[in-house]
Amino acid sequence: MDIIIRNARVLTMDEHDTEYERADVLIADGVIKKMGPDVAAGIETGSARVVDGEGKLVMPGLINAHFHSPVNFLKGALVDAPLELYMLYEVPPLQRQTVDREFAYTRTMLGAVELLKQGVTTNHDDCFFVPVPTDEEVNAVMNAYTDAGIRASVTLCQVNVREYEKYPFLYDLLPDDIRTEMEEVPLLTTDELIGYYERFIEHWHDTANGRIRCSVSCSAPQRVTPDCLRALNDLSEKHNIPYKMHILETKLQRVLGEEMHGKSFIQYVKDQGVLTDRAVVIHSVWVDDADIKAMAESGCSVIHNPISNLKIGSGVMPFRRLKNAGINIGLGIDEVPVDDGCNLWTVGKTAGLVHKIADAEYQNWPHENEILDMLTRGGARTMGLQNRVGMLKEGYRADMLLVDLDTLPFTPLHNLKRALVFCENGGSLKMTIVDGRIVVEDGEVLTVDEAALRKKVRGYTDRLSAQLDLMTESADRLAPYYREMYLKTSQKDVGMNRWAGPMTP
Ligand SMILES: [Zn+2]
Repeated sequence: MDIIIRNARVLTMDEHDTEYERADVLIADGVIKKMGPDVAAGIETGSARVVDGEGKLVMPGLINAHFHSPVNFLKGALVDAPLELYMLYEVPPLQRQTVDREFAYTRTMLGAVELLKQGVTTNHDDCFFVPVPTDEEVNAVMNAYTDAGIRASVTLCQVNVREYEKYPFLYDLLPDDIRTEMEEVPLLTTDELIGYYERFIEHWHDTANGRIRCSVSCSAPQRVTPDCLRALNDLSEKHNIPYKMHILETKLQRVLGEEMHGKSFIQYVKDQGVLTDRAVVIHSVWVDDADIKAMAESGCSVIHNPISNLKIGSGVMPFRRLKNAGINIGLGIDEVPVDDGCNLWTVGKTAGLVHKIADAEYQNWPHENEILDMLTRGGARTMGLQNRVGMLKEGYRADMLLVDLDTLPFTPLHNLKRALVFCENGGSLKMTIVDGRIVVEDGEVLTVDEAALRKKVRGYTDRLSAQLDLMTESADRLAPYYREMYLKTSQKDVGMNRWAGPMTP
């Protein structure tokens, strides 16, 4: 054995919701070999690390099902605005930055360390590259995840249409000079993007003993050409990997679907043949009942990002309707500047709270079991990892947390699951184990020198502040046109309201 945890309380999150008041967990070769009361009795410990679980809880590691690491350096940096204006400042469409290997590696590592220290053992990164991916930047991201010791799956979240094609009314609102500049931004053709993906998958998929994986993303159906949307689906089918797509995050996107295709983007992706059981719909806020029916029939998953939706005012996802339709849901931080951190515990708590402003029928509100499901096994399923992680089970990969129950959030302890969702914020973590390896212990990450990492990031302060000034300047130039577009779409009746207040500013 490599690790033996003795006499811990265990929350397995398996299909039967098995819990042990007192059990042992035996880990070897990255796998849970045995688990149950007294299974360590009489076992030769040899060189195994024996961990005293007395007064502690063992539970599955948290799964962050949606993330964008390229903005890991933008904590607390961006304006409060709806998605379409917010993105202008986050990724200004007319402004370029060069990203070297060191910068990309450090940026990815910072997020990975923060996630691990807060109990996220698996991270799905929809990693975008502006304007196009380079081997240097892509490999730096993948090397950082490999070195950090976290489980990660990564997509190339690339756009391949002009900026003004992604929005309703924008082409007509923009002056000629800005339109021309938008036309000069380099874009990958479908063949180039698919070719790049093939090499990416060939090089990185299922590496580090299966800990590092690749998936596919179109960013959003309006952000790629139809042939690219379908070609990415073919790639997802060929390699049997998830296909991520942001759909109907905002009301403006609902209006855009009607303007572009005379239907919602869920119906559009269904008609394009890409809404399958490998599809993962990120956000799904402005979906209607017909959309939910199509999603349930396809077997797709949904990622719920409640803090992101609140931060940039996207509205409240119809949680109970999706759940009643039998759709699997995972939870996501989305990205550092919309969470202003990397804390999936608070995402879970927010998911437990936000639906209460959208439904007076209290029996529809999510309960703690459902939140924990989304944080663990539901998230694993969105990544196609449901047979490997997300539960504690013999034969599963050993991704787990040791939580100290002798801390204030658990004192007094009335109901474990409620305390995990509503009281704990990550501060009670004693240990994070990924693939059978202890990567965080007593608040210290063991795979990297965190102090040196923080120092390195602080060394980028001047560069980051100069970059942010340029980004703001570039975005300010476009913002009036985007605001006009936003106001125009806000007047449209889309047959639903996902805000708790009035629909028009
Ligand atoms: Zn996103």
